[in-house]
Amino acid sequence: MADRNRKRAAQPDLAVDAAAPTGRGQTVPVLLPYPFAGPFDYRVPPAMAVAPGDVVLVPLNRRSEIGVVWDGPPDGSIGDNRLRPISGPVDAPPMRADIRQLVDWIAAYTVSPPGTVLAMALRVPAIPAEPPPVGWQRADAPPPARMTEARQRVLAALGDTHMPGPDLARAAGVSPALLRGMAAAGLLIPVALPVPPPFTRPDPDHPGPALSADQEAAAADLRTAVAAQAFSVTLLDGVTGSGKTEIYLEAIAECLRHGRQALVLLPEIALSSQWLARFERRFGVAPAVWHSDLPSRTRRITWREVAAGAAPVVVGARSALFLPFPDLGLVVVDEEHETAFKQEEGVVYHARDMAVVRARLCAAPAVLVSATPSLETIANVEAGRYHRLHLPDRFGGAKLPRVELLDLRESPPERGHFLAPKLIEAIRETFARGEQAMLFLNRRGYAPLTLCRTCGHRMQCPNCTAWLVEHRARRILQCHHCGHTIPIPAECPECKAAHSLTAVGPGVERITEEARATFPDARLLVMASDTLTGPHAAAEAARAIEAREVDLIIGTQIVAKGWHFPYLTLVGAIDADLGLAGGDLRAAERTVQLLHQVAGRAGRADAPGRVLLQTWSPEHKVMQALLSGDLESFRDNEAAERRPGNWPPYGRLAALIVSADTAEAADIAARDLGRAAPMADGILVLGPAPAPLAILRGRHRRRLLLKARRDVAVQPLIRTWLASVATGRGVRVDVDIDPVSFL
Ligand code: ADP
Ligand code: ZN
Repeated sequence: MADRNRKRAAQPDLAVDAAAPTGRGQTVPVLLPYPFAGPFDYRVPPAMAVAPGDVVLVPLNRRSEIGVVWDGPPDGSIGDNRLRPISGPVDAPPMRADIRQLVDWIAAYTVSPPGTVLAMALRVPAIPAEPPPVGWQRADAPPPARMTEARQRVLAALGDTHMPGPDLARAAGVSPALLRGMAAAGLLIPVALPVPPPFTRPDPDHPGPALSADQEAAAADLRTAVAAQAFSVTLLDGVTGSGKTEIYLEAIAECLRHGRQALVLLPEIALSSQWLARFERRFGVAPAVWHSDLPSRTRRITWREVAAGAAPVVVGARSALFLPFPDLGLVVVDEEHETAFKQEEGVVYHARDMAVVRARLCAAPAVLVSATPSLETIANVEAGRYHRLHLPDRFGGAKLPRVELLDLRESPPERGHFLAPKLIEAIRETFARGEQAMLFLNRRGYAPLTLCRTCGHRMQCPNCTAWLVEHRARRILQCHHCGHTIPIPAECPECKAAHSLTAVGPGVERITEEARATFPDARLLVMASDTLTGPHAAAEAARAIEAREVDLIIGTQIVAKGWHFPYLTLVGAIDADLGLAGGDLRAAERTVQLLHQVAGRAGRADAPGRVLLQTWSPEHKVMQALLSGDLESFRDNEAAERRPGNWPPYGRLAALIVSADTAEAADIAARDLGRAAPMADGILVLGPAPAPLAILRGRHRRRLLLKARRDVAVQPLIRTWLASVATGRGVRVDVDIDPVSFL
């Protein structure tokens, strides 16, 4: 990926210069934020001058649309007489050349229409700026005017300065209407008030923690990379609790010293209260935050401050990649192994990989951070493309937690229960020491399956190939794919037997019920996406845990995220085997990452941590890797298994997902695609086959998988392939380059 980008990145401004001067009668390409194949040509009106990047209004059919003047020559296929003129400019800063390159790059890499990618970069600037607030000052040479006592009070209150209208009215004890009257009489003149900058510059020399020797060595390397002001990629790989965050904050400090901007991508920005607090402790002020749930006014202000170079540090979700930094000097991707960085809807792209592209386009260093790096990143290290910094020890002498496997075949939980006796005992001991425990199960709700004891009927979603999940407190069954919800039925819908429906298997809600019964005095907190709705709830949960108002935390994968809870010493995984079902290429790798991250929450301060993994297959390579803690060997084994078959990261994968309203239409389209599959040395097309989620939201899905040697450029192959097949009405083909999900 990085290689194919080199040509463009080396000459970022050529296209701009070549197309810059515009004159009468000129034609330019304008890219619109819609899924067209490319930009459309428009005529530049005589009185207007435009350059690539300008945001403009253009007519499209009978509507007026916002677009961006694009690079390169016009397409020229539309005759002069049919060419329509640009309607006018839009009050927005031009789109920078590096963002335009990023849009083109992502479109080409993901086989997406460039306009669809543009839409992600254009969501904000189209909104006009707010006028600066207005205040009043005395007129220099006021005309003769009636001078009442109230008017004199206003002039006295103003003195020689200016004041916002409401403040002035209050200070002088007059109405706003009286101020307007004085303005009309020429006694007051309006002044634009300075807007206080919303983001204070973080102080790089605000005293931070004293780093250990290991940490300092890693920080020094990162500082050097930042000071070089050149593209590079560094993997910062250190065990959980080794202080990776503190280290990359030093890289940010260096970036600030050079007066440049820094971008940090986090996988779950709503769960980042502890991260934000840490940043404030290090720099004295908060960073700018960016994600899609921000109020639109905040988004607008943030976007413009970033564009003006006045937001020195931005921490954000995937979409922050498209912010218009004029002087980006560092890109950090924390928890780089996280699949949350893969956007699965719309433009299907991996934000970690695109962050590296972004860094390259603006000649900045990228830092990828993880205690459990992905095989993709490790392969890039081994190929010499990425540099690696490794921290083998936790900070301050804290030990990594001791991991034990609980063989459920030998010591199963009581019938109808899910906590094995040994786990219960360990939790009791933890409470007795005044410490906290955490139970992890990556499943929301009460039970994943509801089944009729009389006829065996399973409650299934009518729109998806999925069971309905019971949420007992809310008395509903719900599909976690499409949201379809029904009340829990009193009788089996199939055989009408009453009181025959029974819950099979646990979700966190059921574990909470069991924990409440087992530890009646313990204070419980559930951390799942449906109990922690939004940043405030998540911050409050973290606060309560830090303040030791909680004894037992029960959660889904949310609990694996970067949390630092000093009094948490025991972690129990209810079903360590859960992620291994399904046979996904990365199932083992992901399970190790997730469980290792959850385990890494235990014993981060003085008291040692303990981790109990409940499993039916303790001999499995994943359990053995977690037991030994030797992730390096685990990764080597995974690599050895994937290399011969050219599986990622040693080869390329691309998925085509065919979907249609009927099974027949999906089958026909998938078969036609299969017949037209490219055949060449080094590539192999697997399928079509029904997707594991064969029906999703009522659409029937089939999958094809293209596997290629690393040196094969798959995008042109796929483009030709798709163009060679005419798919029927209502059929969609989605392309997923480097697929992470195989559902
Ligand atoms: P990681 O991101 O590698 O899991 P963190 O950066 O969260 O590790 O560090 C773990 C804990 O140790 C945090 O509370 C952090 O503030 C603390 N810590 C790390 N390095 C230092 C240091 N040099 N001085 C003081 N505290 C530190
Ligand atoms: Zn559904």
